[in-house]
Amino acid sequence: MEIKRIKAFGALTADAPLNKMTINRRATTPHDVEIDILFCGVCHSDLHSARNEWHNTMYPIVPGHEIVGRIVKTGSEVTKFKVGDLAAVGCMVDSCRECEYCKQGLEQYCEPGNTLTYNSPDKYLQKQTYGGYSESVVVDESFVLHVPENLDLAATAPLLCAGITVYSPLKHWQVGPGKRVGVVGIGGLGHMAIKFAKAMGAHVVVFTTSASKFEDAKRLGADEVVLSKNEDQMKKQSRSLHLIIDAVSASHDVNAYIDLLRVDGTLILVGAPEEPLPVAAFSIIPTRRAVAGSTIGGIAETQEMLEFCGKHSITSDIELISIHEINNAFGRLLKGDVHYRFVVDMASLKKDN
Ligand code: NAP
Ligand code: ZN
Ligand code: ZN
Repeated sequence: MEIKRIKAFGALTADAPLNKMTINRRATTPHDVEIDILFCGVCHSDLHSARNEWHNTMYPIVPGHEIVGRIVKTGSEVTKFKVGDLAAVGCMVDSCRECEYCKQGLEQYCEPGNTLTYNSPDKYLQKQTYGGYSESVVVDESFVLHVPENLDLAATAPLLCAGITVYSPLKHWQVGPGKRVGVVGIGGLGHMAIKFAKAMGAHVVVFTTSASKFEDAKRLGADEVVLSKNEDQMKKQSRSLHLIIDAVSASHDVNAYIDLLRVDGTLILVGAPEEPLPVAAFSIIPTRRAVAGSTIGGIAETQEMLEFCGKHSITSDIELISIHEINNAFGRLLKGDVHYRFVVDMASLKKDN
C-alpha cells in the first residue's frame, strides 16, 4: 500500500517524554479523506496512554484524538466532503459497522471492538494507529465529522472527546429542567459537562478540589460550587442530586459522591483512573442508586453534539500551546492545573525541522 511519511510527536516508552518522530500514513483509499491537522486537543487519556497507565499501550504511541483541520484530499467514492472543507475526527476511526450496536449508531460500543484513533491495530498498515499529534490523518469519511463554521476552530477541537464524552451521558440520562446534576472535577471533561448541563436546563452543582477554580466554575455555568474537601459543604448536598458526572482522572472516594444522590440517582463514571474505585454496598443498597460508566458517543451523536454547540455557541475554554510545550502540559494536567483544555497549534509541528 502506498504510504506517506509525516511528522508527528509521540513517546517511545512509558517513561520517555514525547518527542518528534516520523510516522507512516496510508494514501487515501476510495472512501478516505486526508485532513491537514490544524489543532489537536490534549486529553488526559493521552497522558494515561503515553505512560501506559491502562497497561495496553503499544509503542511508539502518537496520542491525540481531538482533531480539527481541513480536507486536502478525497478518495474517489467520497460524498460527504470536498477539498477545503473543515473536518474533525474524535476517538474512533472505524468500527465493524455490522454488530447490533454499530447498527444503532453506538459505534463506541462496537461488539468486536472499534478502531481507536491511536493505539489500536491499524487495518491498513498492520501496525497500531497513530493520533492527532501529527501533521495529517487519513480517515474513512464515515468517521469524519462536519464542523460548524461559526465556532472558533481551536476551541472546537476538545468537543471531539471531552465534549461528546459528557454530552452523551447527559442525553442518555435525560438531563433537562428540574434535574439537579453534579459535576466532579473541573478539567477538560468537567468544564464541558458544566456548559452542557446548563445549556440543557439543569441545576448544576460543581465539585472541585481546587478553591482557585470557584469563580471559573460559576462563569462556566455552575449554580453552586462545592469544595469537595469541606465536609459541611458536602453534607449540604446530601441526597439531593439526580445525576453525577464524575470526570476525575485519579483515585478518589466515589462513595462521598454517591451519598449525594437521591433515591434512584446515578453516578456516571467518565473519568478513568488507573486503579479500581471501591463502591460501598451501603452507598447504593438503601437508595436503589446506580453507578454507571459511559464512553464517548457514536458518530451520529457526535455530529448532533457539534450542531448543538454551533446553535448554542458552545466551545471549550482553552490554552493554546505549541507542540514543544506538550510535556509541560502533561505535567500540569497531573496537578489539575488546566484551564480548561490544552490545545496544540499544529503549525508548531509543521514549521519545525
Ligand atoms: P483533566 O483535564 O486532567 O481533568 C481532571 C480533573 O480531575 C482535574 O482538573 C481535577 O479537577 C480533578 N482531579 C485530578 N486529580 C484529582 C484527585 N487526585 N482527586 C480529586 N480530583 C482530582 O482530565 P480530562 O481530560 O478531563 O479527563 C478526565 C478523565 O476522563 C481521565 O481519566 C480521562 O482518561 C477520562 N476520559 C474518559 C473518556 C471516556 O470515554 N469515558 C473520554 C475522555 C477522557 P479539580 O481541580 O476541579 O478537582
Ligand atoms: Zn479523550
Ligand atoms: Zn460493531
